[in-house]
Amino acid sequence: MNVMVTGGAGYIGSHAVQRLLRDGNTVLCVDNLYRGHAEAMAALEPEAGGRLTFAEADTGDREKMKSLLKEHQIDTVMHFAALAYVGESVTEPLVYYRNNAASALSLIQACDAVGVQRFVFSSTCATYGEPSEEFIPIPETCPQNPINPYGRSKLHVEHMLFDYAHACQLKGKPFGFAALRYFNVSGSDRTGVIGEDHTPETHLIPVVLQAALGIRDSITIFGTDYATPDGTCVRDYIHVEDLIDAHACVMGDLKPGDTRTYNLGIGKGYSVREIIDSCKRVTGKDFEIKEGQRRPGDPPSLYANPAKILGGLGWKASITDLDENIASAWNWFKNHPEGYGS
Ligand code: UDP
Repeated sequence: MNVMVTGGAGYIGSHAVQRLLRDGNTVLCVDNLYRGHAEAMAALEPEAGGRLTFAEADTGDREKMKSLLKEHQIDTVMHFAALAYVGESVTEPLVYYRNNAASALSLIQACDAVGVQRFVFSSTCATYGEPSEEFIPIPETCPQNPINPYGRSKLHVEHMLFDYAHACQLKGKPFGFAALRYFNVSGSDRTGVIGEDHTPETHLIPVVLQAALGIRDSITIFGTDYATPDGTCVRDYIHVEDLIDAHACVMGDLKPGDTRTYNLGIGKGYSVREIIDSCKRVTGKDFEIKEGQRRPGDPPSLYANPAKILGGLGWKASITDLDENIASAWNWFKNHPEGYGS
């Protein structure tokens, strides 16, 4: 299959490119390199067997997307390119609406012009906002009421896809999509070739591992007074290779006309304190922990009910042990303390 992967030079996108190549697909990676790394593509080149093309381009550039889709005869688009910091989205909402919502609109328009019929979209559990008790663990039927611009920017794209797919059905030229709502993604590829490298880095596990490496003096827990078992926020941490395995599974089953949503998580939540304890166990390092204010936009508890994708496609996460997940992330960070620049 000919697959366009937007954001393919980023953390999750590069793992998708790697997996798609291993499965025998031909991949066009599109990335504007704003937060992605050309080094990730270079690292994957040796195993690509000539089936990987990289285009430095912005998904918001509709004409460019049209010509790339046409030139590479793309069957399926996997759209990862986006900004993904909850905190930043609160202070820079317009940047998030531009990059995540408006650019996706341009990309969908390009797909429409060229006749691409299958689209896999990186959505997020942040579209659920703060679910009430009855919806935890969170099923796909949980009402979507995001509480930050990041979640809202992604929900706009889900709405566009639903409305567009519906219109295509009416016109008799079916378009199929899957919106995959990720929980917290962590870990890195088992072969150690690619990994997580964000600037700035704000995600919990990398930040804690940077403290273990001595790159940071300490780690601050954002809020210790939540209504959770230990007062800190609870999240569902899915290993990046499991997440991409779910994409491969969905892509293999997706047909024009489908409108699908799946939650991608392990079905179990871990608190910020549990993450820190696991990082200490796995790395054998000690570091200072500070207790700080809540971070605006953070819901107390988010973890998935992954029953729908298990029932529908027989897919479930293979790594549910927290220390195993953290060990995978540590394997990358200890060998690449400065990321790809190491
Ligand atoms: N967090 C924290 N300290 C940090 C970074 C994150 O306490 O230095 C908390 C954050 O408030 C949230 C959880 O860790 O409750 C996961 O945050 P992350 O940014 O990794 O992912 P998010 O859930 O925002 O997508």
